[in-house]
Amino acid sequence: MTKSTKRIYLSPPHMSYYEQQLVSEAFSSNWIAPVGPHVEAFEKEVANFVNIGDAVALSSGTAAIHLALKLLDVGSGDYVFCSTLTFVASANPILYQGAEPIFIDSEPDSWNMSPNALEKAFKDCEKKGKIPKAVIIVNLYGQSADMSPLLSICERYGVPIIEDAAESLGAIYKGRASGTFGRFGIYSFNGNKIITTSGGGILVSQDLEGLEKARFWATQARDPAKHYQHSEVGYNYRLSNVLAAIGRGQLRVLNERIEARRIVFKRYFSALKNFKGIEFMPEAPYGRSTRWLTALTIDPEQSGVTPTQIIDALEGQNIEARPVWKPLHLQPLFKNCPYYPHNNNSVSDDLFRKGVCLPSGSNLSEEDQDRIIECLKHTFQQ
Ligand SMILES: *Cc1c(COP(=O)(O)O)cnc(C)c1O
Repeated sequence: MTKSTKRIYLSPPHMSYYEQQLVSEAFSSNWIAPVGPHVEAFEKEVANFVNIGDAVALSSGTAAIHLALKLLDVGSGDYVFCSTLTFVASANPILYQGAEPIFIDSEPDSWNMSPNALEKAFKDCEKKGKIPKAVIIVNLYGQSADMSPLLSICERYGVPIIEDAAESLGAIYKGRASGTFGRFGIYSFNGNKIITTSGGGILVSQDLEGLEKARFWATQARDPAKHYQHSEVGYNYRLSNVLAAIGRGQLRVLNERIEARRIVFKRYFSALKNFKGIEFMPEAPYGRSTRWLTALTIDPEQSGVTPTQIIDALEGQNIEARPVWKPLHLQPLFKNCPYYPHNNNSVSDDLFRKGVCLPSGSNLSEEDQDRIIECLKHTFQQ
């Protein structure tokens, strides 16, 4: 590798030209803070985009999950079911609330929550006489979970769903926006997501009263009084007006960003599909994935290389690739939490052992993608 080779990142930010105009507007009106017109407009625009009642813009997706759990009255000792194959931020807020996570495996068709495993977990908890207060369903790498069977199981037990759609803004499930199926949904605008505010998140719902309560908690739970009065614990979780301006600009190009990522996927697919032992994350027939990240599995026996060798070979060319999320039931932080696999096999363990995520930015040039593909082909053929 020559030192001058430009680094290719996994999923870098991609600004259009609208963001700077809108941020300028915030500066020239001196509305940098507090919560201001861009925040309100951003909330309305996100809610319109996904076609849901309303939204509350927050400092992170993690904060949004935290407030959703509070809205569902999750507290000390309560059980919360959560997808295991995900980033740690899906489950950390369960611990903030003093509740106990129980992890649910993936199914192979979408890599998302297995209805089988969910059903088993419910049956066990029912036997123990303690069903969970909430189920956090994660939509991985830009693709919705198979919501219909998951919804009907949860409905049968009367347990509400929080959809962690941090990675799936813009994805479709049976004609509807991913993130709008649960009682609450959350999106993230962290720097690596499909659109970004540098950092931020949003809580969405049809429950307008719940969202009003979330706004209240997110601004230090200030009672409606002239003096500073507080009867509940609050948080400093609101998104700033400047960051909301960035978000509004990003939202205008979201559809283009989805198209671009899907094209990145297609190029990888056509270049690599004939190599033995490689399988791409499937796109389930019920919807449309944004292909936020192109993820694939590599079977070392068939391909002759391990995922680690692939990641190292790319790193040698100054290209950032990553393993698939390490399942939460394998994390030291959660080592004592119960776990329900899909069947006799744990699908998420397998995906973690074999999975690789490739650079997938909407601003990845064809030239840079060719560099990645060349390196992959070279490594597979060795
Ligand atoms: C990024 C991410 C989050 C957290 O979002 P932040 O805005 O970074 O707090 C939560 N869940 C999943 C699945 C994510 O990928």
